[in-house]
Amino acid sequence: MTSCAVIVAAGVGARAGPGDAKQWRPLAGRPVLRWSAEALLGAGVDELVVVVADAEEERAAEVLAGLPRWKLARGGAARSDSVKAGIAALSGGDDAVVLVHDAARPLLRRAHVERLMAAVTADGAAILALPLADTLKRDDGQGRIAATLGRAGLWRAQTPQGFRLGRLKSAYAAWPPGDEPTDEAMVVERLGDAVTLVPGDPALAKLTYPEDFAMAEQLAGAARTMRVGQGLDAHRFGPGAGVWLCGVRIAHDRALIGHSDADAGLHALTDAILGAIGAGDIGDHFPPSDPMWRGAASDQFLTHAVGLVAARGGRIVNVDVTLVCERPKIKPHREAMRTRLADLLGAPSEAVSVKATTMEGMGFTGREEGLVAQAVAMVELPA
Ligand code: MG
Repeated sequence: MTSCAVIVAAGVGARAGPGDAKQWRPLAGRPVLRWSAEALLGAGVDELVVVVADAEEERAAEVLAGLPRWKLARGGAARSDSVKAGIAALSGGDDAVVLVHDAARPLLRRAHVERLMAAVTADGAAILALPLADTLKRDDGQGRIAATLGRAGLWRAQTPQGFRLGRLKSAYAAWPPGDEPTDEAMVVERLGDAVTLVPGDPALAKLTYPEDFAMAEQLAGAARTMRVGQGLDAHRFGPGAGVWLCGVRIAHDRALIGHSDADAGLHALTDAILGAIGAGDIGDHFPPSDPMWRGAASDQFLTHAVGLVAARGGRIVNVDVTLVCERPKIKPHREAMRTRLADLLGAPSEAVSVKATTMEGMGFTGREEGLVAQAVAMVELPA
């Protein structure tokens, strides 16, 4: 009997923060997508189709280089479109066992695949799932508990999910258009087929938020290391009617002068993050000699640095920015700055600090000739 698998890797995964979609990020030294591909092929599936978004075929081919028996298919707008494209690309017959798997569950092991395959072979359809351990609460829409629900008999569905290929194709053909299923089992359930629950593994939890990567690294047995970086920047005051600081526009009787928008807060923070990963400084990445950056919004500099951290499989743990000036007063804008920085960093706002101080009238900041920003950033990276 032949066996085949589809890995769905066409998602955007916006909740995982800025940077590459999660299937392309490294996890313990290997891209997320490659983990699942290796596990499925290592468990002996005869054919693997990896479904990727338009224009990502080349990148997928690089990630899968050296592995046998795979091919690519192009995904659709919805997850179910991608699954349908994947199963259409398989060459197995109706009796073949097909396993459908999310790329965002990288810690798949051969034992999981074998357990599931045995159940599908015996029962025709099976999924990996975990019984609920936590007590379930329903909220009242205002952050309070409206009810406690029974958890008896409830499971969390994971992937892979396995079926006979012919049956899965029929199930998708019969699924009402416009209704998006959240997994394959529910599509097959609608035909009235029984689907067996096979014990899954907490390690197969879906990578959804930036912090999930740190947990997955730990589960993968990979060591993580902490790095710290610092940044310092100064800009001169000149004529104008406001300043950009930490990505927030503040009305003022002067402006900060610089090649870009002169947001010293974002510049110092960008340098701190680049420093933490040993990636040079902001001038290396965005040369002031390049007219392209004249008047540029500095949030793109920070976004670039955050993307470099993500590309190394890292995450930003916390940042702390200090602005040094007599005026404008920073305090009324501090929360807006924290919110803006948290958004740019893909970090929770409690991991973002903005502080301000004056130099008691001393020096160039005291004379209001210019403003200084200083920042530190803590970054967690694979060891
Ligand atoms: Mg600067």
